[in-house]
Amino acid sequence: MVEEKLAPGARVGIVGGGQLGRMLALAGARLGLYCHIYTDRSDDPAIDVAACSSVAPYDDQDALARFVDAVDVVTYEFENIPAQTAEFLAAQKPVRPSPQVLALTQDRLVEKNFISGLGIEVAPYAQVDDAGALARAVAQIGRPSILKTRRFGYDGKGQALIRLGSDLATSFRSLGGQPSILEGFVPFRCEVSVVAARGLDGDFVAWDIGQNVHEHHILASTKVPADISADLAARAKDKARKIAEALDYVGVLAVEMFLTEGRGGPRLLVNEIAPRVHNSGHWTMDGAVTSQFEQHLRAICGFPLGSVRAHGPAEMLNLIGDDIYRWREFLAQKGACLHLYGKSEARPGRKMGHVTFLKENAQD
Ligand code: AMP
Repeated sequence: MVEEKLAPGARVGIVGGGQLGRMLALAGARLGLYCHIYTDRSDDPAIDVAACSSVAPYDDQDALARFVDAVDVVTYEFENIPAQTAEFLAAQKPVRPSPQVLALTQDRLVEKNFISGLGIEVAPYAQVDDAGALARAVAQIGRPSILKTRRFGYDGKGQALIRLGSDLATSFRSLGGQPSILEGFVPFRCEVSVVAARGLDGDFVAWDIGQNVHEHHILASTKVPADISADLAARAKDKARKIAEALDYVGVLAVEMFLTEGRGGPRLLVNEIAPRVHNSGHWTMDGAVTSQFEQHLRAICGFPLGSVRAHGPAEMLNLIGDDIYRWREFLAQKGACLHLYGKSEARPGRKMGHVTFLKENAQD
């Protein structure tokens, strides 16, 4: 029998074995949950800390069948899971957030249509299936603009900037000629994200808004609270709530937005939805009553959601590649909370850990 609401002692299946899975498994242990990681890589960082793990390809039906049989609920820590895998698992046990949410957020065009269909502003965009469509889209949207593949893009991969002199056929080919969208370049004042959670009963909570800085398309730091007015923060949370409710979402989600200056005042444009715990929510581990990882598990298990109250201002810094070698310096700093992901090789661009600085006040 499939129980909707679980209890401590439940077995939580997590598809994906990266640092997000690792931090979910650590939070799960604290609540007396048994986390079972399913990954296709035997050296993934979540394996070291989880109660169990299965290492097999994401389309291995026998391995997936054994995995789903051994757990009470399934979640995931990255969104590029094959749709068939999510459907296969959902036929046996609850998958939260649902495979429909996964399918929607896997395709930038479907996602943008959905968000704008809710009356939420996004950057101007157009569907691009071939070089001819790209020329028409550029004529409509203008330059600079960004060509993005509809599927499987992350950390700036699958993107090409279209500048004044860019040759359109070359740009389209540089992304492998895949179905794409063209997006107007947003001259943003800053990037913010709402990390929020929706429970099985429809309860909705959102942490303070994070202000994000990206370097080379990878998140470098998140400052909380964001440097925006209380009114804008409320508007940002409202958009996230609207999205979560329309998706009948269960779990933690992040909604990334651009803040721009419009003629009628500041505007928030939604860039994308991450249907999972998110790097811009890592500060909650040390800076809030309930971390995003614990909250996600509470939501998918049907537990009451925890308080999202922040202890004070905080700033999270990602440790990317060689930054990891600064671990001793961070350990020696008061108010610095260090998290290392246990990855053996510090490759450039690889997220190796993060450090959260808890501050006395916003100027600190
Ligand atoms: P994405 O993969 O869509 O999250 O994009 C990664 C990063 O590229 C964003 O966080 C922005 O810094 C930048 N970016 C993406 N889309 C746009 C846009 N339409 N205008 C300006 N910057 C963008």
